[in-house]
This record gives sequence, C-alpha cells and structure tokens, in this order.
Amino acid sequence: MMEGKLLISQMMERAEKLFPKKEVISRTHSGIHRLTYKEIGERTRRLASALENLGVERGDKVATLAWNDHRHLEAYFAIPGMGAVLHTINIRLSAEHITHIINHAEDKVLLVDPMFLPLLEAIKDHIPTVKAFIIMTDEELPDTPLSPIYSYEDLLLEASPHFEFVKDIDENTPAGMCFTSATTGKPKGVVYSHRGITLHSLAMGLADSGGLSEADVCMAVVPMFHVNAWGLPFASTWFGTTQVMPGPSFTPELLAELITSENVTITAGVPTIWLGLLKELDANAERYDMSSLRAVLCGGSAAPMGMIRAFEEKHNIPFVHAYGMTETTPLVTLSRLKSYQEDLPTEEKLQIRAKQGCVVPGLEIKAVNDDGDIEWNGQDMGELLVRGPWIADEYYKDDRTDEAFKDGWLHTGDIVTIDEEGTIKITDRTKDLVKSGGEWISTIDLENALMAHDAVFEAAVVGVPHPEWQERPVAAVVLKPGAVVDKAELMEFLKPQFAKWWIPDDIIFMEELPKTSVGKFQKNALREKLQEHLV
Ligand code: ADP
Repeated sequence: MMEGKLLISQMMERAEKLFPKKEVISRTHSGIHRLTYKEIGERTRRLASALENLGVERGDKVATLAWNDHRHLEAYFAIPGMGAVLHTINIRLSAEHITHIINHAEDKVLLVDPMFLPLLEAIKDHIPTVKAFIIMTDEELPDTPLSPIYSYEDLLLEASPHFEFVKDIDENTPAGMCFTSATTGKPKGVVYSHRGITLHSLAMGLADSGGLSEADVCMAVVPMFHVNAWGLPFASTWFGTTQVMPGPSFTPELLAELITSENVTITAGVPTIWLGLLKELDANAERYDMSSLRAVLCGGSAAPMGMIRAFEEKHNIPFVHAYGMTETTPLVTLSRLKSYQEDLPTEEKLQIRAKQGCVVPGLEIKAVNDDGDIEWNGQDMGELLVRGPWIADEYYKDDRTDEAFKDGWLHTGDIVTIDEEGTIKITDRTKDLVKSGGEWISTIDLENALMAHDAVFEAAVVGVPHPEWQERPVAAVVLKPGAVVDKAELMEFLKPQFAKWWIPDDIIFMEELPKTSVGKFQKNALREKLQEHLV
C-alpha cells in the first residue's frame, strides 16, 4: 500500500478545504473573536511565512506562552507546518523552571500573551537563545525592555497568505514539545512527532473514545500548554469541529456562560475545573443551559465518584473519565460502559465509570509488581506500563530517561488494578501510596470516599511519617461553603467503607489545598507541612 505521510499540515489543509465556513470562537483580552477555518488557515500560513522571515528554520524550537485562543491555535499549525517545533510553555511553572526549559529546548522565538511580559522581563538576561519576542495582541505594543519585539498582527499583515506547508519531512519529525509539570526536580521534556500527534487525533475521534466529530462544539478548558490541550485543537481542526477557546483568566461563571451561549457539546479539563463548575451550577443552575453538553471529559487526576454523580444526576450532564500523561500525548484509557453493562444497577455503573477505563485502540498496557506481570483480577496492584505509537520513548536530553523507559515500555509510576475485562483503576502514584507497616493504602480511594460526603468540597490524603507504622494516612479536607461537619463524623462516614487500618489517623480542615501548576493537589507540599504531625 501507499505510504501516506502522517503530517500535521494535512489537518489544517482539510479544515480549509472542507470546512471553510465552520468557526473558531476565541476569547482574548480584547473580547470574543469569531473566525472561520478559512480565515484561520490563511492566518496560519501568514504566521509561518512571518516566522520564516524572522529566520526560523526547520528543527528550530518556537515557544508559546499563551492561553487557549485563536492565535495559539494558529501557532499550533504554523510552527509544525514549517518543519519547526512547537514548544508550549506551562506558564504556571516557576520563573526558574521556565528559564530552565527555554534554555534546555533552546527556543529561538517566543510567542507571548501580553500578560506574561513581566515574567519574561524578569528572566530576559538568562535566556540567550531567544532571538525574537512576538506579542500576541491586536492592541498597541506595550512598553517593555524585551527586544526585539514584534506585534503578532502586524507581522501577519506583512506576511504572505500563500505559504506552502513543508511536505518533504519524515512523519517522525518532531512537531511539538511539552515539559511535565514535575512536582519534584526539574521539568522533563517530551517531544511529540507528527505521526504520534496524528494517530492520537484519530484515536480521539473514535466513537468509543472521545467520539469527537464535525458536529461537535468542542471547548478545551485544559490549557494548550498542558499536553497540547489533550490533542483536542489538532483533532478538532482536522475533523472540522467548531472550537470554543475560553482565553485568559476564565472563571466557572464564564465557562458556564460559554457552554450556554455557544451550545458546547464536549468540553475537557482536570477535576478541579469541574468541581468549580459544579459549585456554580449548584448555586445558580437557573442562569445557564447545559443541555447541549454530551460529554465532559475529565482527566489529569482521579475524578471523584461523588462529582460524577452530581453532574449526571443533579444536572443531567454526561461525564467521561479518562487517563493519560504528558508522556502519552496524553490519551491512554477512557471510561465508557460496554454495551452489556448498560443494564447494571445505577450504582454499579457509576463505580465502573469512576475507574479510569479501558485502553484505547492502538495502545497496549500491562501492570507489573515485584513478582512480574499482575493478574487481571481487579485485586492485584502493580505499576502500569504502556506502549504504542503515541507514547514517548525518552525524555528530551535528560538522564532520567532510563528511569521511565525500559524494555520498550513506558513505566508510568501509577499503581493500578486491572480487572478481567481490562478496566484499569488507578489506586495511586508510586510516590503517593501510603506504605503502612509494609501494606499499601490507596490515597485516591480515601479521597474519593471523603469527597462523596455532602459537606466536603475537596480532600487530599497523604502518608505522614509515623513512629510505629513508618507511614500513616492523614486527610486534609476543605468544606463546602457554609457546610458544618466535624472530624468524628467524617471518620464514622469512612469506617464502613474501608478496612480499619486504612482509616486516616487524623483529618485536618483547611481553607484551601495546595495545588500544582495544572490544578492537581500538590501532595508533596502537604506532606512537608504534615511531616511532624504524627510524631
Ligand atoms: P504531572 O506528572 O506533572 O502531574 P501529567 O499531566 O503528565 O503531569 O500527569 C500525569 C499523571 O496524572 C499520571 O501519571 C497520573 O498519576 C495522573 N492522572 C492522569 N489522569 C488521571 C486519572 N484519570 N485518574 C487518576 N490519576 C490520573
């Protein structure tokens, strides 16, 4: 058969030709913009031409510091489309880590949302590889010591709308890169190939997976600097899906308004985003219309069952739990009922869907512990291993590669059980498991149970050093506004659900939980805070 090359440029070309009238709705500092794929395509070609005029060559890294908006989408296609590499910088990393990754990637040009200028101004003397800053705005250029700076829109005006995307590159050529947000140590870089991103996009469109299609209106809330917004901007463009891009500083109110006004059908983000939306819907349901939604994709950390239940039963919003990581582009598993499970009692169905689900076609999984491959019996725990054509096989120029990539498998660092039908359940990350007297306690199970209590908004459980048991679980809980509950009541609530030795030694109440740059509970910060708690 023919060797059709899997290049990202074909996605934009298809959108231009087949879906010239379909729209991208983008919120920026200057308001809502509505652009068609025809316009986005032309602007993308202009951006590629402008970058070429600035001296960007094949293989060069061009970085973005930006939220989800149409200019970022144009960069998603212009940069790989000219054979360069799109480096999406996680703007929530510390200045020190951002400096490190710009230098490590050797970024040549930075595309910057004006709101991140102060951050760059502070590090400007430490990023010598950067030769140009392009400010992503249609407003006047701000006063800044950064140099040389260019206005995104002015560059586009002067550039050619006829830029031809490069075709004489191998499909394994790097197209993008992203650094994991690393809770400890320096961020680790992952490089995505044209082929990997393309195959991942196909998987996103499968009916039993993301099921993304032309008829959808897709709003990725997960930032475009976090694993390419889970690949949704690529897949949406390829399929001609309408895209809604919520821009900077969005709030739960704003997301609910956008879903209502744009009839969003599928949206995606981490659990903290959906906890926020749920709070808003609980308080002000009558203000919004959520009836267009057919799927809220949730991943990045475990979706508590109580949250899934609340979305579906209270607000009639279908919820889909998925699992992946930066190293996996990210989609690995997705939780959907099999046809013969549809008749199970509601509670049982919820339990299945609160797991992380089954591996999508194209990838392989297994789990191992000290005795070798674990049995798929839903009981034995082991570290999840993944392989396939959209799984990274190394960290970018990093000697930590050997820790995670062994014998052709990615070792995820996630502890799972796998049942007879291949449904995985993440019980913990290797580093978060509580090891109490030689036995393992799943912090995720305890957190989910706590978050199912009516008074609890968020809960995180960590292992705290203990003189007798090495480690014991301690829970930190944030209550819903106005809710009242004490420690004893929460302990009683947990007791019937767990073995006695799983029950946390203490439950402390907090105003808020420390979060990582992508909105996950920052367990190492909590562990540090509680170091002396049980001694
Ligand atoms: P970081 O490692 O910096 O948090 P990633 O976004 O790559 O960055 O995180 C991947 C990790 O997130 C996975 O290894 C896993 O521990 C966790 N994760 C992702 N999705 C889920 C999920 N649905 N349930 C539980 N944990 C999840």
